Amino acid sequence: MKPHEETEWRCRKCGALLGIRRAGRVHVKHKRAQFVVRGHVMAVCPRCAELNETDSAPPPPAEQPWPAA
Ligand SMILES: [Zn+2]
Repeated sequence: MKPHEETEWRCRKCGALLGIRRAGRVHVKHKRAQFVVRGHVMAVCPRCAELNETDSAPPPPAEQPWPAA
């Protein structure tokens, strides 16, 4: 995997964009603040209030639940 590859982190329920995984970190923007998180991240979707979890390091491609579009 390329070190600077970016992956979108989207709500598992409604698909709202929650953050961007980049270089082993998760970038989460909220209004005028931006959070850069390493490790395990939990976020409540601003649109549907679903609790989402992710890790800053994405799983291997074979384990990703979503199909390649
Ligand atoms: Zn949602």
